[in-house]
Amino acid sequence: MDCKTLASLLDVYVDGETDLTQTLLIEQHLADCVACKARKQALADWRAMIRKAAYFPAPAGLRERLEAALQGSIEHVQIEIAAPIHKTVPLLPSMPRVARRHRHFGQRWMAGFASVAALLLFALNLNWYLRQPNAETRLATELVAAHVRSQLAAHLTDVVSSDQHTVKPWFNGRIDIAPPAIDLAAQGYALIGGRLDYIAGHGTAALVYRHHEHVLNVFVLPAGAVPADAKPEASSLQGFHLLRWAQSGLVLWVISDASESTLQGFAEAFKQTAP
Ligand SMILES: [Zn+2]
Repeated sequence: MDCKTLASLLDVYVDGETDLTQTLLIEQHLADCVACKARKQALADWRAMIRKAAYFPAPAGLRERLEAALQGSIEHVQIEIAAPIHKTVPLLPSMPRVARRHRHFGQRWMAGFASVAALLLFALNLNWYLRQPNAETRLATELVAAHVRSQLAAHLTDVVSSDQHTVKPWFNGRIDIAPPAIDLAAQGYALIGGRLDYIAGHGTAALVYRHHEHVLNVFVLPAGAVPADAKPEASSLQGFHLLRWAQSGLVLWVISDASESTLQGFAEAFKQTAP
């Protein structure tokens, strides 16, 4: 992917709406291109700033009122333009009055223009906000991309071991969370190692398990907004199954191309065995 193509996709990418292939190509380019990386960061920062701003759901009938208000403002501006000029221009002897009138006209015109601009901007922002996929979907998209990347880039593990006493301490000092690395070979899920990944702007622990021919990536994230007693929640995205559950103040996501019942079995075994 070249810089021009990336620029055309950047908006969609930052919204988390590019497909898997595009996402991988974009991330590959961003890893090598300082200019595009800076552009992407600037856009992401701006989006984050807007997201942080107070947001209230749009009340019913807002669209009609907005349109009515926009229409009103435009008519108002046209009247302002049409009216005072002809009255003031012929009064040559009293120049200060003309100037004053003109200034007055200018101010009113500016106010009218500003209110139209503000309403347009508000409507655009609202439209943009309503288009956003929710945070959970964005996160799931990122996790699926990370899962695919881990297998495409031959970067499945940073620490290769089936020994939980090797995998768990490896994360010490690398991230804030101590991931519950436990071997579940007896239940059919062999721990093969751990990896440091990058999810939602943070270094994240990924535990890697194997079940028959399937790789299971388990991402360990801070609880955030997920309640501690949240029941496992299954979803699927781009042909992968995901299962999310909360445990010991953490949120765990397991992702694989294995079946949903395989993931349910994994979560059960994990919950029963992990401290
Ligand atoms: Zn570039």
